[in-house]
Amino acid sequence: DRQKRVRNFSIIAHIDHGKSTLADRLIEKTGLLTEREMKDQILDNMDLERERGITIKLQTTRLIYKAKDGEEYILNLIDTPGHVDFNYEVSRSLAACEGALLVVDAAQGVEAQTLANVYLALEQDLEIIPVINKIDLPSARPEEVKREIEDVIGLDCADAPMISAKEGLNIEDVLESIVKKIPAPTGDINAPLKALIFDSYYDNYKGVITYIRVVEGNIKPGMKIKMMATGKTFEVSEVGIFAPGQVPVKELNAGDVGYVAASIKNVRDARVGDTITDAQNPTEKPLPGYKKVTPMVYCGVYPAEGEDYNNVKDALEKLQVNDAALVFEPETSAALGFGFRCGFLGLLHMEIIQERLEREFNLNIVTTAPSVIYKIMKKDGEMLTIQNPTNLPLVAEIEYMEEPIVEASIMTPTDYVGAVMELCQSRRGTFKNMEYLDQSRVVMHYDLPLNEVIYDFFDALKSKTKGYASFDYELKGYQKSDLVKLDILINKELVDAFSIIVHRDKAYERARSIVEKLKEVIPRHLFAVPIQAAIGSKVIARETIKALRKDVLAKCYGGDVSRKKKLLQKQKEGKKRMRQLGNVEVPQEAFLAVLKFD
Ligand code: GDP
Ligand code: MG
Repeated sequence: DRQKRVRNFSIIAHIDHGKSTLADRLIEKTGLLTEREMKDQILDNMDLERERGITIKLQTTRLIYKAKDGEEYILNLIDTPGHVDFNYEVSRSLAACEGALLVVDAAQGVEAQTLANVYLALEQDLEIIPVINKIDLPSARPEEVKREIEDVIGLDCADAPMISAKEGLNIEDVLESIVKKIPAPTGDINAPLKALIFDSYYDNYKGVITYIRVVEGNIKPGMKIKMMATGKTFEVSEVGIFAPGQVPVKELNAGDVGYVAASIKNVRDARVGDTITDAQNPTEKPLPGYKKVTPMVYCGVYPAEGEDYNNVKDALEKLQVNDAALVFEPETSAALGFGFRCGFLGLLHMEIIQERLEREFNLNIVTTAPSVIYKIMKKDGEMLTIQNPTNLPLVAEIEYMEEPIVEASIMTPTDYVGAVMELCQSRRGTFKNMEYLDQSRVVMHYDLPLNEVIYDFFDALKSKTKGYASFDYELKGYQKSDLVKLDILINKELVDAFSIIVHRDKAYERARSIVEKLKEVIPRHLFAVPIQAAIGSKVIARETIKALRKDVLAKCYGGDVSRKKKLLQKQKEGKKRMRQLGNVEVPQEAFLAVLKFD
């Protein structure tokens, strides 16, 4: 019976441990594609992902493997995104599997995301197969790393495949382990339809394509289906498998992984985690674990000078059709005019959207400092939630404010424990505990305000630990906090887009850092430009950009034609990115400058 020969699995790993490379090798080894057809990294198919070396959007592939027992197996490889911003998607795609390959770099060993992913996989009761990768590296220490996995995670590594995904070494061991260790799916083919949506995206021709795991029953074209969370019904127009392109089939049965098209107009109607059932013969209970994902980080997105508001709106709408987690609504800024308040899952999600707006839609945009969601208890008893510092009520009206706190785990070599503690303390962290993984590595647990994490925390951590520490976090809840609104005035005018909410104790330090950065990045004008940072009417930091003297410019340009051209070109490029604030020109990078600590 076919179900017995199906294996549904994911690959989980810390970033850069070789997940994509292994996926490519598995595809190659199962003879699905010739080498010529293989692109660099098939599963990471967005440019952005390839550049950043991370997997954002799920891709799924079916492999046919003839095992040593002589049977032909259907291996469905479900690729999961590998970043905290997308944790919920990771957990849903793992829920579509019976097992997971845990790829660990033989030189790096267990890291924060390795653990985070393992916990998610354990929550789904998956069979986890440890795979030691990069054994070709001179610095590889496979035996030590195996022991580390056994000690830290408690997984038996006696039979763990030791591979080099890059050189294609021992890939067969991985395939045999999948077949032998990962259980075949179970699930009654004759029961009413119950299928998990683990990804969805919008296709211009077919409408929303949902990626599903059929848990019970079957699904075929013509069937009326119902989304259990939203209650919406649709008629199935096509079902198919990933071979790896979309290949239509007659039906998908319990245990199968595939896709469904049903003329769905918006990804919001087919959300990740929702259960699809038969509208005429519905299942009683949906699958567990559905949750509406809510944005954690917000920022303003404005058309840059000369850019059309409607172009930005169109682009956001297009991106939103494909990204159920992206939210936006119009807002206006005194400084930047008409724009949008956008909500994201996290910082990476925010950066991805910003880059897609610029690259795919060719737009010039200005983005404001990211903000988390604050809860404000007013004296009149009203509770507000605020994700734009500009909307903060007057200080006199506020009883107290609360900010989101995350539970962070930071894994680091023991040498950097002091540096990590210093960093976390400077970011208002509360130390929880520390565990030794082995003699040389620890995992430290801190509660940190999300508002500190979004300001450059990750980069600071990397630089303080020479890149050795890894980091993962999860929202814990809200906590009362002494917060103030910090305003920035340029040439005596308040620029609302620069306003941020900070802890009172950090206000002075942030104020200094911002005015100094702005002084660096704002070009000199024909008049002096004062830059001030203020809490309410009280100025707590100031700098002045001196007026420009024309003769200095003339001298500096000199007679070198090519240099002059270069400068002019640079100026022209810079020009696009300028924003006129009052009578001061402010470059786009100024808006980013407020995000960076030093
Ligand atoms: P992912 O982030 O887990 O998907 O990791 P990738 O598959 O993108 O690999 C990260 C980097 O490690 C890339 O530069 C790969 O070429 C390299 N890499 C992957 N597997 C191996 C291996 O077995 N040996 C060596 N030396 N490098 C590898
Ligand atoms: Mg990858």
